[in-house]
Amino acid sequence: MSDGAAAGSAVRGAADTIVAIATPTGRGALSVLRVSGPRAHEIGRAMMSRWPSHPRQAVLSDVHDSAGVTLDQVVVVRYDAPASFTGEDSIEISTHGGLVVPTTVVAAAIEQGARLALPGEFTRRAVLNGKLDVLQAEATADLIAAGSRAAQRVALQQLDGGLSRRIAALRDQVIAIEALIAYDIDFPEEDDGPIAPERTLAALEALEGAVGGLLATARGGELVREGALVVLAGAPNVGKSSLFNALIGRSRAIVTAIPGTTRDALEAVIDAESWPIRLVDTAGLRATNDPVERLGIEVSESYVRRAAAVLCCGEDKEGLRAALHATRAALGERSPDEPPIVLVGTKCDLPGPRPDVATLGKELGAAAWLDVSAETGAGVQKLLNVVGDLLTRQAGAPELDAPLLTQARHQHAVAKALGELHDFRRAWRDESLPATIAAVHLHAAAEALRDLIGGVDVENVLDEVFRRFCVGK
Ligand code: GDP
Repeated sequence: MSDGAAAGSAVRGAADTIVAIATPTGRGALSVLRVSGPRAHEIGRAMMSRWPSHPRQAVLSDVHDSAGVTLDQVVVVRYDAPASFTGEDSIEISTHGGLVVPTTVVAAAIEQGARLALPGEFTRRAVLNGKLDVLQAEATADLIAAGSRAAQRVALQQLDGGLSRRIAALRDQVIAIEALIAYDIDFPEEDDGPIAPERTLAALEALEGAVGGLLATARGGELVREGALVVLAGAPNVGKSSLFNALIGRSRAIVTAIPGTTRDALEAVIDAESWPIRLVDTAGLRATNDPVERLGIEVSESYVRRAAAVLCCGEDKEGLRAALHATRAALGERSPDEPPIVLVGTKCDLPGPRPDVATLGKELGAAAWLDVSAETGAGVQKLLNVVGDLLTRQAGAPELDAPLLTQARHQHAVAKALGELHDFRRAWRDESLPATIAAVHLHAAAEALRDLIGGVDVENVLDEVFRRFCVGK
């Protein structure tokens, strides 16, 4: 049985009580444990020397195991159903941190009859008890995983129900059109039904426009959530790792003068002005017979193929030209829709003649060009600005306060709804199908939107959503 299926069947009755540590394990001042389910209070009372007399009251208490051995001094808060995160009776225990204390308190709760929670099980219960919809549950995971302020802002908006309200409003519009059609179906004999077809058509066109507009936010949503993949390409030793460090503003890459030492890709998310950037430093691109180095280069090539922009680095004209050719070779089939390529002349602090990046950039059809020095920082901020502008040219300016589709699941559902609306319009306008049959497409569009928020049959959707959750959430 998969984890998801196990969690699903465990929750349906919600007969059992679950426990988990909600904070990361390791040394820290505090750790928070959650217990939720019908026996949460009974279990809590059995473990605590003092018990809160009111819901949401925080009480300092000793906690002990079933043999009466004191494990820690904790703060316990009691939540009464349905006014809790999960909608069930629950408690939150703040223990001291570290590896041992929280684990022994979890073990004590298990001794009293709790079961260790599965990943995402607390949030799953919140969804099944109507405290959150599926989009909001996804947003909690996104908020935890947020790698940039932009991703944080979008996830918070989604948690607040912004996307859910937008989807629900679109679904209401589909249902309104279904009603107009149903009215027509009820009066089949009349030459001119009581609803003018132009009115239905206008409502349908407006709706298609709105659904299409939402679908168009998917590219921006992906860029915000994942960060735009920006890849450093070029031969070993041209200064990619140093530039990577200069761009992220701290030393995370190993910088070395021996060619070919950055074998694996290093990633960092930069909280840039416009779009968050997922910067990747790779082994570089060049022909080699060394099988180990070849593996690293294959990794680089696969990043280049998925890139939103590529920074082709070189110290001189030949290096820049080679970096660009290697990038285009790595792009292979993606060549026709090549990501913007920036020619980056590195080490511009060094004395001696500089390559003319502008002339070369124009000649080679690069999207932008500039000189940088990781050593002095010259051009580094400008490079970030150039990349931000190129991304905005691709995806439009980030609109972080409007609902965005941030996941493939959202994109598929909204694309399905739009496809069904198109199919309906074609069938209905051409009268190729009886209105009753054509209306099936409207119904399917409404269903696709409902599934996104979480309709009646949410178990499958939940299994998919909660696969990415951590235990304790
Ligand atoms: P990579 O193999 O392309 O990642 O190159 P590295 O970042 O490891 O740099 C190779 C060598 O060039 C190292 O000795 C760096 O110190 C040096 N280097 C990198 N960037 C600069 C720069 O902007 N100015 C100068 N003078 N040296 C640099």
